Amino acid sequence: MLKLLFAIILFLSIVMINLFTQKGNHTNEFYISKSFEELDIDIEKLQREEITINNAKFIYLSFDDGPLNGSQNINAVAQKYQVPMNVMVVGEHVFMNATQKKYFNNYKQNPYVEVNNHSFSHANNQYYSFYTKPQKVLKDFNKSMNLLGLDNKIARLPGRNVWAVNGKEYNRHKETKEAAKLLTQHGYKLIGWDIEWQYNRKTKYPIDTHQEFFAKLKKHLESNKKLFTPNNIVVLLHDPMFRKDSSELENFIELLQTQTDYIIMPLSRYPVRNNRVVYHKKKLTNNRS
Ligand SMILES: [Zn+2]
Repeated sequence: MLKLLFAIILFLSIVMINLFTQKGNHTNEFYISKSFEELDIDIEKLQREEITINNAKFIYLSFDDGPLNGSQNINAVAQKYQVPMNVMVVGEHVFMNATQKKYFNNYKQNPYVEVNNHSFSHANNQYYSFYTKPQKVLKDFNKSMNLLGLDNKIARLPGRNVWAVNGKEYNRHKETKEAAKLLTQHGYKLIGWDIEWQYNRKTKYPIDTHQEFFAKLKKHLESNKKLFTPNNIVVLLHDPMFRKDSSELENFIELLQTQTDYIIMPLSRYPVRNNRVVYHKKKLTNNRS
């Protein structure tokens, strides 16, 4: 009897030790390929070598307007932390100069980065007149699609927070309605954003520190009602924000990784509806090798 009790205590301590030593690093191991197919979701059976999170929250980091000065750091941080990131590129920016072309190619080659469509012209920043010509909008998105050789139809409208994905819509801008409809008819998934890490319009640097922004994100995430899809939060950032110094972005990712329930996801997996996630411990142990 005593032996059995001892065995149970020993087993429980091993489980506890594993839980604590692996906490915070769980997001890394699943993004080993561009298709992110290693992530196990919807697994119902709970085995001894698995860890279950019952109330997972999914965070998507999406960077707009690249390639620009700053993209090199986004690319490096995705690689360093092995976390998925989405970049919404502007076709015109790719062809602006050799450096930006190189940044774009680096994005495409990075297994942690998904490249999505933010139009070719960025509406030349004349949003209202751009959206009143739906056929031109479609042509502009198709132009980027073809010239950049994009392999997916995830897109974000320039200058407008519009969603149209899996038959669900959110659009407060009357003038974009027809264009959004046409794009979805042609297979585009329009992804807006739930929260923005805002930047100073002059310097382009982030306004909030990573702790301040994290607090806002947490609050927003917990008031589930404000999200386009519950438990899923799409964060908008811009490539130039961390062009001089990427430490705030790195600190933010490290902070996210200490939250056991928070999982950074690529937009190709948006939205995750089942927030019960099962991890395989075997994969957790060879973290950041
Ligand atoms: Zn933009």
